[in-house]
Amino acid sequence: MNSRRDFLQKLTAATIVLPSLPACASGSSKGPSMKSYDGPVLRVAIMGLGSYGTRVAEAMQSCRKAKLVGVISGTPSKIKAWQAKYNIPEKNCYNYENFDSIKDNPDIDAVYVITPNALHHDQVIRVAKAGKHAISEKPMAVNAKEAQEMIDACKNANVKLLVGYRMHFEPHTLEIIRMRKAGDFGKIMFFQGLSGFVIGDPKQWRLNKQLSGGGAMMDIGIYSINGSRYMTGEEPVWVTAEETKTDPEKFKEGVDETIQFQLGFSSGAVASCLSTYKMNFLDRFFLNGEKGFAELNPATGYGPIEGRTNKGELKQPIVTHQTVQMDEMSDIILKGKQPIVPVDGQEALKDLKIIDAIYLAVKTGKKVDLAV
Ligand code: NAD
Repeated sequence: MNSRRDFLQKLTAATIVLPSLPACASGSSKGPSMKSYDGPVLRVAIMGLGSYGTRVAEAMQSCRKAKLVGVISGTPSKIKAWQAKYNIPEKNCYNYENFDSIKDNPDIDAVYVITPNALHHDQVIRVAKAGKHAISEKPMAVNAKEAQEMIDACKNANVKLLVGYRMHFEPHTLEIIRMRKAGDFGKIMFFQGLSGFVIGDPKQWRLNKQLSGGGAMMDIGIYSINGSRYMTGEEPVWVTAEETKTDPEKFKEGVDETIQFQLGFSSGAVASCLSTYKMNFLDRFFLNGEKGFAELNPATGYGPIEGRTNKGELKQPIVTHQTVQMDEMSDIILKGKQPIVPVDGQEALKDLKIIDAIYLAVKTGKKVDLAV
């Protein structure tokens, strides 16, 4: 059993989901999403028809600005099932050997890569070389060097590179960012990020360094890293980190089980975070400033996200994250829209520079200076 999916799904239970509400919409089910839309639609092929790919495909059914039109998979039976379910024509179906020929397919604009982490690098570069926009799942790569190569490849091919940072479009998150920018919390002093769940099957790719690139940090700790940046509005200038490993059989060399890390920002603010595959019920962000605080708990699960500040409960709408994300990404790719929090390759590169530094700090036991 994939306990990450289990964990995130428990958070989804009992949610009344309003499809495709844009991040700024009110709680009414008659939001702008229900209005007709006759602008351009992003035609997307999903690569990797696994657990998260399935979730994205389902959510895209409610998109107005993005449409699932193609698939790339190594499993013919899955392709058949998806074709039937989503009405995907044979000419838009590819496997991992032949998908470079997508360059000759004018009916696909973008490929969303939802495969194990360590495969994103080569697959995104092949997508770029085929002249298609690339959307990569997080972590975009397994280190900063690979991330930079992906950015360069997409730039050279003149295609966009986006990363599935769905929280960057989430209404409670955006409201806290708005309040922080408006000065409601005063000077930001502290962020705490707790990201973790108990991982199941020891044979899954998430526990195989060749495919995962690491352990909990790559998978779930990255939410606290990314969150520390969008919640504080700053980039860290140093990190310290310590690893705890209680089960070296399950968490082999290079696969981190639990890492606690600290980030320092040039303003003097600090962050204290925990990334773990060994504890459940850890999905909490806390932001503290001289005039107030904000809390998200849960902060990054599939929803409902809940938040409060020193002024009271947040009452933003509950949305299906992946529906809003794909509609927004359509506007970013096709209309050049600038999101409030970036979701491009540079944004992912920053997270990977921090992950590189955290792993170095664990290894050396020393404070590592950063320039992201
Ligand atoms: P999964 O194991 O459920 O699916 C992975 C898919 O990749 C499968 O269909 C598998 O067949 C395919 N695949 C292709 N080549 C493979 C290979 N060599 N080895 C193993 N599988 C291979 O995993 P998932 O949970 O869907 O995760 C996929 C990606 O999505 C990861 O990068 C993960 O971090 C990301 N993800 C993001 C979120 C989010 O909320 N943004 C949530 C879950 C997963």
